[in-house]
Amino acid sequence: MSILALARPEIVALKAYSHASWDPAFDRLHANELPWRAETDRSSAGLNRYPEPHPHELAARLAGLYGVRADQLLPGRGSDESIDLVVRGFCRAGLDNVIICPPTFGMYSVAARIQGAAVREVPLHPERDFALDAAAVLAACDANTRIVFLCSPNNPTGTALDPAVVTAVLNAASGMVVVDEAYAEFSHSPTLLPELAGLPRLVITRTMSKAFAFAGARVGYLAADPAVVDALRLVRLPYHLSALTQAAALAALRHADETLGQVAQLRADRDRLVSELRAMGLDVVDSDANFVLFGRFHDQTVQWQGLLDRGILVRDVGLPGWLRVSVGTTGECDAFLAAVREVI
Ligand SMILES: *Cc1c(COP(=O)(O)O)cnc(C)c1O
Repeated sequence: MSILALARPEIVALKAYSHASWDPAFDRLHANELPWRAETDRSSAGLNRYPEPHPHELAARLAGLYGVRADQLLPGRGSDESIDLVVRGFCRAGLDNVIICPPTFGMYSVAARIQGAAVREVPLHPERDFALDAAAVLAACDANTRIVFLCSPNNPTGTALDPAVVTAVLNAASGMVVVDEAYAEFSHSPTLLPELAGLPRLVITRTMSKAFAFAGARVGYLAADPAVVDALRLVRLPYHLSALTQAAALAALRHADETLGQVAQLRADRDRLVSELRAMGLDVVDSDANFVLFGRFHDQTVQWQGLLDRGILVRDVGLPGWLRVSVGTTGECDAFLAAVREVI
């Protein structure tokens, strides 16, 4: 069965928007662009011109960095766009459903609801260390389940999935499985990117927003079977990544080693937060990400306000008893720990 049998039939039948040719060898008199730059334009590409519709160089650079092929890779405006594209490409409104495992990242259900797909929840339980219940996920699937969303490491728990659990879900579910690896660089658990070639129903989303210190630029990508990538290229808007974004991402990737090298410091501070919060007698979930979920408070809004009164903003993720703190600089971690000592 072709992987595209799972995609929305109207997407598979779609003819791509025919955009202006990108070949720089010609005089560009076909795209209604102005022939000169604005006075303020110091960009290398020239912002009077439309950008490259599919950012080939960026796709190739990211593919090289992660050991996948460029045709398995679709750059986009952060993971948020990748999630939205998969939902719009695969879920028929009013018919199909997606599975999520809350507490988890909020975009999966938002994207599904906008598309008109039903959202089925298979909760993770604190009593079981928020571990994924693969059997319960499979029990919730039916013939109209188009996507199972798995997040590893999961936001807001910080827990990474055992790759064997993911492949068990993939092998037994009939739809697509999206594994959100936004925090993979902080994790000790291996990425699933090397498994991609043998698993055509797997979609992996990654982002430059977290470990690449690049959230403001809005760059992420999904990695999937080339047939899935081609189908989702029909769904996304033409010129979705501006020339400025493409240039900034390529420049950031030239310094990938230095940027990712600093993740080690962050991990050390994260592990210190976990052990010091535990030493205060709090419940703390082991984290493979750049944040820590801690509690359990009788009413977490009290401690949240207490920390805010001391100038520290953490996140109440709506999980009764728990708060989530992002790992900041070493100094910010120290200030946070001192404030927690005062409010508990
Ligand atoms: C932060 C985050 C993202 C990143 O989204 P971008 O659109 O790439 O900034 C994706 N997934 C999860 C689980 C996140 O927490």
